[in-house]
Amino acid sequence: MSPLDRLTPETIAVVAGRPEHQPDAPLNHPLVMASTYVAGGELEYGRYGNPTWRAFEEALGALEGGRGLAYPSGLAALGAVLELVPPDAVVVAPRHAYLGSLGRLAADGGRHDLTTRLVDVADSAATVDACRGADLVLLESPTNPALEIADLAMLCRAAGELGALVVVDNTFATPFGQRPLELGAHVVLHSATKFIAGHSDAMLGALVCARAGHWEQLEQRRRLTGVIPGPFECWLALRGLRTLHLRAERAAHNAGVLAARLAAHPACRNVRYPGLPDDPGHARAKAAMRTFGSMIAVEFADAEMAEAFCAATGIWVTATSLGGVESTMERRRRWPGESPTIAEGLVRMSVGIEDVEDLWADLARALDTIS
Ligand SMILES: *Cc1c(COP(=O)(O)O)cnc(C)c1O
Repeated sequence: MSPLDRLTPETIAVVAGRPEHQPDAPLNHPLVMASTYVAGGELEYGRYGNPTWRAFEEALGALEGGRGLAYPSGLAALGAVLELVPPDAVVVAPRHAYLGSLGRLAADGGRHDLTTRLVDVADSAATVDACRGADLVLLESPTNPALEIADLAMLCRAAGELGALVVVDNTFATPFGQRPLELGAHVVLHSATKFIAGHSDAMLGALVCARAGHWEQLEQRRRLTGVIPGPFECWLALRGLRTLHLRAERAAHNAGVLAARLAAHPACRNVRYPGLPDDPGHARAKAAMRTFGSMIAVEFADAEMAEAFCAATGIWVTATSLGGVESTMERRRRWPGESPTIAEGLVRMSVGIEDVEDLWADLARALDTIS
């Protein structure tokens, strides 16, 4: 048991991944830019290891309760996970998982005979059924962009008992929202590009493993494939991680206020935010998550109205991606690969840490313009 295990996540985020307290030691691990190291040590070469990667991996690992590994992007982390199963594996994934993850699974279906079974993860019985005979179960909750909530505890346990490798994409919830390794997941995946780095200025991915065997396999593989993160990105993401809980708290507060007001507006339909008392995922989220997060999905009558809404805002930026300090939104079906089961008029909103009344005033003006 590490001394960090006794601390709350808020404290771990601040104290983990630091140099030892010794006179003149810097408080933070410095950014180490090195392609090679003087021979005779553990690191040897820049593809094998880097002290700045390690600091980030230690801190994220401590927060998720496992051992971390950084990758150049979230999708690179997914690619690494796919190497833990055979090329012709059967994979279960949410039908509304992150578009890029589904794209990767589809591409591997074409190249390597990977079979993907897409499920509605909010439907536990159907998801467990699909897990029979699966090699890999990739879960995401809340889903991107539909904001559905899965019964993660039940699904992780059931999928594990059925013999699958269980991976949870925890990008939306963050380790402050839920800790899937405690629920029986084998590996947690993050697009650290989003909430962890948190400032829309870096791309980074990560895996956190519950089992040493998986970590070792992945670490060996990372040396071989050369799919390695940049030290500067790890440094930025660790800097972001230090304040993740404060940003997440503020953004979740803002999201709760805005979701309720959007839900009451006649132009908005089917507002999905797990914190809304009448949201289909509310009871599950309330029982299992520490926060409801800061992502909202709202539907307009059609694509034109949704686009007009996005175009009419001033503070809110129309942009893809999410999890930054700034509020962003986009109509998801503007991406040709987005699932046809996502409504044409669905706008996904990533609520930032600005003043909530300024954010609402901007949205209210945009709603007036299009109504
Ligand atoms: C963005 C995202 C990813 C992919 O991460 P990148 O850093 O963009 O490669 C994976 N999962 C979810 C839920 C995401 O939002």
